[in-house]
Amino acid sequence: MQVWKFGGTSVGKPERMHSIRNLITEDSTRKIVVLSALSGTTNALISIGESLKANNDAEATQKIEELYAHYETFIKELYKTPAGYAEGKAIIDKEFSFIRSLVSIKPFSVKQEKEIVAEGELLSTQMFEAYLREEGVNAVLLPALDFMLIDADNEPVLKFTEEKLSSILSQLEDKQVFITQGFICRNPRGEVDNLKRGGSDYTASLIGGAIVADEVQIWTDIDGMHNNDPRIVKKTFPIRELTFEEAAELAYFGAKILHPSTITPAKLKGVPVRLKNTMEPSAYGTLIADKTSDREIKAIAAKDNLTAIYIHSTRMLNAYGFLRRVFEVFEKYKTPVDMITTSEVSVSVTIDNDEHLEEIMAELRQFADLEECDNDQTIVCIVGNFSADKEGIALKVLDAMKNIPIRMISYGASEHNISLLIHGKHKAEALNALNERCFLYEDAMKSIFSAP
Ligand code: ADP
Ligand code: ASP
Ligand code: MG
Repeated sequence: MQVWKFGGTSVGKPERMHSIRNLITEDSTRKIVVLSALSGTTNALISIGESLKANNDAEATQKIEELYAHYETFIKELYKTPAGYAEGKAIIDKEFSFIRSLVSIKPFSVKQEKEIVAEGELLSTQMFEAYLREEGVNAVLLPALDFMLIDADNEPVLKFTEEKLSSILSQLEDKQVFITQGFICRNPRGEVDNLKRGGSDYTASLIGGAIVADEVQIWTDIDGMHNNDPRIVKKTFPIRELTFEEAAELAYFGAKILHPSTITPAKLKGVPVRLKNTMEPSAYGTLIADKTSDREIKAIAAKDNLTAIYIHSTRMLNAYGFLRRVFEVFEKYKTPVDMITTSEVSVSVTIDNDEHLEEIMAELRQFADLEECDNDQTIVCIVGNFSADKEGIALKVLDAMKNIPIRMISYGASEHNISLLIHGKHKAEALNALNERCFLYEDAMKSIFSAP
């Protein structure tokens, strides 16, 4: 069995849904198909929630009706028969009547906020399932809220998904295609919740891990993981193969094509992840598995909006226990540290969640001197094969960065990551300079045209 996930742009137009129908029925592999919301919908729902939170009901109602009009137009082109259209209309009317009912709920709480953003995936999956039915495809809709759960720390409970899905699927052995919602889940209070923005990728790999799928395929609007951010750098090219570790680093450090946690469950269960382009299905894409290629520098990604904290020990040199005390503070406030550099008496770290920054700083000040924090920092992450016996890699990277101020450098923590901390305003320049210095045009041609 395979798990195929289609992102927002892949379901964002009626003709795209028609192509997906063809793609998923081209062969006889059993599939769980995970869908995102239509592109733009989650943003629109968040914006409606913001208007409601601000008690701006008229504005919210206007946004709701604009979104409804979009869906009305969409279903006119999606379905081919009056009966199909009637089903589509019933689905959007039901979901929008729920969305409209939220306008009268005061105060508009986090619970309602989560319910409203879940509507995007609830709409897309029901509309698509009704379309498959119209087309005579034997598909079943599996509600993600029945088997996707997060715990009190917002971590998915894989065991729950394993048990629930195994029991659900054992009763549907004659079925070929299953449709489910990405992104949404329940929390320990039984409420509707989600896996954060871009979370449908994570849903797919959690399901893939839970059923130990043969493969997880992430279908999107680009032909696989590129060697650099295509939104910022012009000459980028797709990478055919990545290891789980390399892909996890790239996703965590900002390659938007994958939700940061996507690789974790796939790696845990050894399920290969393939990235494919819905607009160009014959393109090879990227295969993420155990195998690696010899290439040294493979790809570059960047993670923005970080805060750097600079901590100096107030005690003498050779003090031990200092690092433990520092990290206990971050642990207490459940704040992950992304990057660390140390000297004899100092440690600098970056965090991307500054919700508890004030408390963290206050506690650190009890045993350390702190410099002023720096906001708007960016980690540039260079991923590849950097085993200890290789020479010249850092030279290449630093040569590319020769005109850009670097605040922190981390090399050697793993064999496949070099991280540099720079101010966010230098990000585009850094990514372009690294692209010029670390990738040759011939490499790109080889990657695009040769067989894997
Ligand atoms: P989906 O809606 O299918 O989940 P996303 O917009 O979340 O799609 O992710 C795909 C986008 O990720 C691409 O269009 C591309 O602009 C962006 N992206 C950023 N970094 C990379 C990268 N290294 N390789 C490929 N795409 C990337
Ligand atoms: N619809 C959600 C979002 O826009 C989840 C996803 O697309 O992966 O963030
Ligand atoms: Mg995405």
